[in-house]
Amino acid sequence: MAGIYIHVPFCKQKCSYCDFASFPKEIGKAEVYFACLYKELKGRSVALKDKTFDTIYFGGGTPSFVEPKYIYGALKQIYSCFNVSKNAEITLEVNPGTID
Ligand code: SF4
Repeated sequence: MAGIYIHVPFCKQKCSYCDFASFPKEIGKAEVYFACLYKELKGRSVALKDKTFDTIYFGGGTPSFVEPKYIYGALKQIYSCFNVSKNAEITLEVNPGTID
């Protein structure tokens, strides 16, 4: 089994106990961050062309805090760059108040 983990380092606010890489005041950089992420995914596609991925996991940070177009863009790029199994499990971490 192989999985892809995508880190989304943005949150609505920083919790006092949190050691994860998350930057509440940097949501304005989401566009640039995801543009770099799409490039990195493409850059790794050749080296990982023989793998089939069974899981895709969006963690953070709070992935549900960014605009859905970025998650959609990441999934689109993953599916165009890698072999993803037909029944792949896709997970997105959410925080109450950032999703409906
Ligand atoms: S990653 Fe989770 S625990 Fe950490 S600041 Fe964001 S919401 Fe809080």
